[in-house]
Amino acid sequence: MSVNINRYKCGYCGACVGVCPKGALELVETWIEVDESICIVCGICDRICPVGAIEVMK
Ligand code: SF4
Ligand code: SF4
Repeated sequence: MSVNINRYKCGYCGACVGVCPKGALELVETWIEVDESICIVCGICDRICPVGAIEVMK
């Protein structure tokens, strides 16, 4: 499983960070850090991203 964020699409709006139920996403300067050790692969971040920058693969 993995959560992939496309650096070229992401606008660092922070929307995904706010909706992650596990707090697995963090906005760090100009990048989104993913803590895959706590991610439950729910796909909410994938659905909420306004620019389709996140791909969650189970
Ligand atoms: S919701 Fe999408 S555009 Fe916004 S910070 Fe997350 S990955 Fe980037
Ligand atoms: S798939 Fe779910 S748990 Fe994993 S980073 Fe996205 S919102 Fe958080």
